[in-house]
Amino acid sequence: MNKIYLDHAATTYVKPEVIEEMTQVLMQFGNPSSTHSFGRSAKSLIESSRKQIAALLGAKAKEILFNSCATEGNNWIIHQAVKSFGVTRIISSEMEHHAVLYPVKAWQKQGIAVEFVKVLADGQLDLVHLESLLQNNQPTLVSLMHINNETGIINDLVGIGNLCKQYGAYYHADMVQSVGKYPINLAELPVDFMVASAHKFHGPKGAGLVYVKSPLVLQPTILGGEQEKGYRAGTEAPHQIVGMAKALELSYEHLEAERTHIQALKQYTLEQLQQHLPGTEPNGNPEMTTYNILNVRLPLSAEKASMLLFALDMKSIAISRGSACQSGSGKPSHVLACFLNEEQRAKPNIRISFAENNTKEEIDYLVATLTEA
Ligand code: PLP
Repeated sequence: MNKIYLDHAATTYVKPEVIEEMTQVLMQFGNPSSTHSFGRSAKSLIESSRKQIAALLGAKAKEILFNSCATEGNNWIIHQAVKSFGVTRIISSEMEHHAVLYPVKAWQKQGIAVEFVKVLADGQLDLVHLESLLQNNQPTLVSLMHINNETGIINDLVGIGNLCKQYGAYYHADMVQSVGKYPINLAELPVDFMVASAHKFHGPKGAGLVYVKSPLVLQPTILGGEQEKGYRAGTEAPHQIVGMAKALELSYEHLEAERTHIQALKQYTLEQLQQHLPGTEPNGNPEMTTYNILNVRLPLSAEKASMLLFALDMKSIAISRGSACQSGSGKPSHVLACFLNEEQRAKPNIRISFAENNTKEEIDYLVATLTEA
């Protein structure tokens, strides 16, 4: 059996069509800021990618800004909401990715009020609690992700956004795990800011985007040039941007077929695990989780669990426990800690995240390997 990759929430392979386009662009080396023809053609590649991405996400081209990754995007929005808009409070959740939690906690240390929305027993956010927090009238940024990268739990983006509108708060959504996986029409979503990252939808690493709903404007954090209209200085990487646009185009072109395959595979995986490893339980209500992420607790002893990922790796299976940045740490997941009880937390968990090229045979091999563990 070849190597099996079931860690697509951490990153995805780059599709060959994307590599092909990126390679073409790499051969045109102009600096997009140069005014001669080399520069102009590089610039025009960036601008046509911007238009293409904006059209795919239902945004205006001027609302999309390019940067290096979603961590950068989340940091920029959170920092500038405080600096540019005079936000004095941030409402978030302890289930957010660290790319949100860390900048939020950094502001907390500097005196910005931070409140965390309660999490219900099934991993859903308590929107009644969110509303009660919002009733305290204060300039507020709400930073709540769309889909959780560890559990796949889907938050009610529209419900959250409507509450923010009702109470006059800004809404920032980390949409890293939903862009390219679900149809998105930003013109109709009650979201002020969002971020996405190309490597989560079969594009290159080092390419991210931020959406800032017009007419809102965030001041730049990185200074030193007029790139991205001065909002994000630094020479752009046209090959990365073109690769991101191509990857997004392909994601939406094949969305339905890929989703149907992946959804069935996720269902099959859970059934097989529960059949061969009785006591396996999903983390998060399966009805409310995304189709490409399955997070389960396994009925294994703690000593087996400690070496589990390593043992799977030795058998050429790549999966993880939570976010890639934490995989090696051995620390319990800060996301699962929000809603599992002590007994549930004591069980080892794994995150299996799928793409359209995964097969039932791969799942059979994974389940057989786990059963022998
Ligand atoms: N937010 C979420 C939900 C993620 O899953 C990730 C990546 O794992 C990030 C942010 C960070 O993205 P990037 O790797 O582009 O910095």
